[in-house]
Parts: sequence; structure tokens; C-alpha cells
Amino acid sequence: MVETASAVCFDEKLLSRYGGRGPRYTSYPTAAQFTADFTADDYRQNAIASNDSGKPLSLYVHIPFCRSLCYYCACNKIVTRNVSRVQSYLRALHKEIELQAALFDQGRNVGQLHFGGGTPTYLDQRELVELMGWLSEAFSLEQGGGREFSIEVDPRTVDREAIALLGDLGFNRLSLGVQDFDARVQKAVNRVQTVDDVDRLLAAARQGNFNSVSFDLIYGLPQQTVESFDRTLDTVIAMRPDRIATYNYAHLPQRFKGQRMISEAHLPAPQVKLQIFHNTIDRLSAAGYEYIGMDHFALPNDDLVVARQSGTLQRNFQGYSTHGNCELIGLGVSAIGSIGSAYSQNATSTIEYEAMLGAGRLPVKRGINVDADDQLRAQIIQSLMCYDVLDLQAFSDRNNVDFRSCFAEELRRLGPLEQDGLIKTGAGSIRVTSKGRLLLRSIAMVFDRYLAAEQDPGRYSKAI
Ligand code: SF4
Repeated sequence: MVETASAVCFDEKLLSRYGGRGPRYTSYPTAAQFTADFTADDYRQNAIASNDSGKPLSLYVHIPFCRSLCYYCACNKIVTRNVSRVQSYLRALHKEIELQAALFDQGRNVGQLHFGGGTPTYLDQRELVELMGWLSEAFSLEQGGGREFSIEVDPRTVDREAIALLGDLGFNRLSLGVQDFDARVQKAVNRVQTVDDVDRLLAAARQGNFNSVSFDLIYGLPQQTVESFDRTLDTVIAMRPDRIATYNYAHLPQRFKGQRMISEAHLPAPQVKLQIFHNTIDRLSAAGYEYIGMDHFALPNDDLVVARQSGTLQRNFQGYSTHGNCELIGLGVSAIGSIGSAYSQNATSTIEYEAMLGAGRLPVKRGINVDADDQLRAQIIQSLMCYDVLDLQAFSDRNNVDFRSCFAEELRRLGPLEQDGLIKTGAGSIRVTSKGRLLLRSIAMVFDRYLAAEQDPGRYSKAI
């Protein structure tokens, strides 16, 4: 059989053997390695030095507020109806935008912008207009069609007019939190929204400036069955969003309090969950979606597929994303940035975040300056996770190293994975097979030098 770029093969035995806990590699080193030794001064130095590269910028803006709690949620969020909390947060965010913008050359183009949360559409229309105004005053936001300005939308918080406003503000990609259309599942996770609600918003986005709409789905939620999720897939496929992310629900009630509202007795058994996942892959592939990697699918003409073909796909804190050449500025509580050779994270409590900005300080709390070895490993992991292949000669030439001698131990540890059919080595490359594509993180873990010292593997979710 000739494998197509999007081929993916479900092998239950391999998934059981290799589908254990591990990082999702939205960065390497992962956030588990960030420490408080990295300070705001380190961030400032990296930011100023990065201006020499002239690279375009990507902005991530975190809005942590939600109107109600979805029991499965593992995000950094604040469930509140108290508008004064929002106002004080926005004042701090405005200050951070000004402090951050002062570090970067004005000429650096912002080609990518993402509002995440929490619920960015918790903000009312006036607040959204004001926030976009602050960003456009501080940064050079790309105006042309090459920009990717996206926002996460909770369908319960917006109407057609709000979608039109988002288009007028320059957003051209929407990410709708759908999760599951089944009424029993929605009740069990405290997130009730109708098919009509989502359909109306999708129609509004199609009429507006939005060239890509993605749906987030979650499998493994309470009350889900193979049949119920199949009905959700019927509806989703009929709506035909451009991208679909299918996340695996990780039940970690000891870490996420809200998950204690979910009865374990209502969770689908591991075998059922596996079947739901298998069915999802088969159904989306048959409907013409290409598997990008991890949990992402996209239609063949979507920018994610185009980026994979043109070499500009990246894996970052939002999952898979285009604009791989940008440097990322994280704005807002808990936001993560990636500038030059450093990762940084802001304070994770709004009280501390606002206090630091109130004192005129950048709210950077931790991070890491990545060393040369980290950078090599990050390249390897990006290449395998975004393109399913690592060209050993090109890697060696680009970095002026000999891959085979630098990573002899990792090549040895890849042996069993090759015997089990997850990868193929030889002909100067490491190539992920269609069976290995569902286990990308297990392959990447071979190159993670920090894992052996990990004290708390329970911090990671399972692959499946
Ligand atoms: S899933 Fe989204 S809307 Fe629900 S509580 Fe979490 S961040 Fe808020």
C-alpha cells in the first residue's frame, strides 16, 4: 500500500502498549521545566535581542473569565458574574500590552493573533473593541489576507451580531467549543448548547470574513457511548467545519476540582473510549478530513494542510498552528511566550498578575532559557510532530552536528518502536508510519532528556 500524507492507521495493541502518559509537546522543553530562576529581566533581554531577527510576531491574549463551570475543564479560568473583576483585569492587561510593546520594534508585523481563555467572548462588545484598539495602537497588526486572527468562542455567549463584530475587528478564524451535541453528555458536564445555536453561528461566520472555522470535540466524557458520539459526528460532518480538534478527556480530579463533579461511574470504559476514538478517525477520514497530528483534522484546502505542505506548520501552545516563523508574545494571566531562545510564563493568579502590573512590572513569573541541546531536540520533536519525518542529513547540515553520533542513544531506544512498526529508519531519515501517527508523543518522548528525572508522571494525560 502507498501511504498518503494523511494516512493514519488505528492499531489497538500498539495504542495500549504505547498510549501511556506523556507531554503533549506544545513546547520543548515543556512547561514542566520552567523555573522561577527565569525573571522579567531575562525576558526583557531576550525580547530586545530578538529585534535583530526582525521576525514577525504572534500575540496570544488570555481572557480567563467564564460565566459557568464546565465540569471537564482543565483551563486557567475564573467563573464569575462580577463585572468589576473584569474591569480591573482589563486595566492590568492594557498596562501589560504597553510594557510589552515597548520592548519590540514597531516595524515587526503581527501576522498571527489568538484570543483564548477562559472565554474571550465573555467580554462585551465595547470591551472587545477597546481591547483590539489597545493592541492596534501598540503593535503593527497585519491588515492583509495573510493574517491569522483567531478567537475561541463559547456558542452560549454570542449571537450573529457578535460574530459580525468579530469579523469587523479583523478576526478571520473562529474556534467553536462544541465538545458533544448529546443532551445527556451536555447535562453531565454542565454545558448545554443546542445544535441550532452552533449552526446559526456557523452560518454567520460563513457570511462574514471568516475563512476558517474549527470545532473542538472531546471524547471520553461522562455518558458518552459509541452510538451517542457517532450521532454527534453525523451532525458535525454535516456542518463541515474547516478544522476539527478531538481532545481526549483526561480525568484528573485530584488536580482539577471541577472534575470532582463528574461521577467516575458515568465515564465510558477504556474499551468504549478507544472505540469512540477509532470511529472518529474512520468517520472524519471518510468525510475527507486530513489528519494533521495528535488531535487535529482539517479539510484539504484549510491553511493547516497548506502549512504542512509548505513547511510553515508549527506546534505551539495553541496546538497545531500556521505561521511557524513568528515569535510568540503571551499577554494576560498565565500566558506563555516564546521569544528568541526563551520560554516565559506570566503569573497564574489574577491577583498577582494585577499586582505586578499595578507596580509597573512585567508579570513574568517563570520560564527557561533553552540551551543548544534543547534547541536541537526541539527541532527534532517539531519535525516529527508536524511533518512525520526527520531528514538526518539536512538536520546535521543545518546544525553543523553529526546526528548519528549526537543521538546514538536515542537511535538505540527507537529500535523497539521500529520493530513495532511506529517508525522507519534508513535512507537518511526517521519516518513516522501510519501506525505511529497516533502515537507521535511516544516517539517524541525518546528525544526528551528531562523525562527520566520527572518526579510526577501523573501530571501528564494519556495519549488515548
Ligand atoms: S471549558 Fe471553556 S467555557 Fe467551560 S469552564 Fe473551561 S474555559 Fe470556561
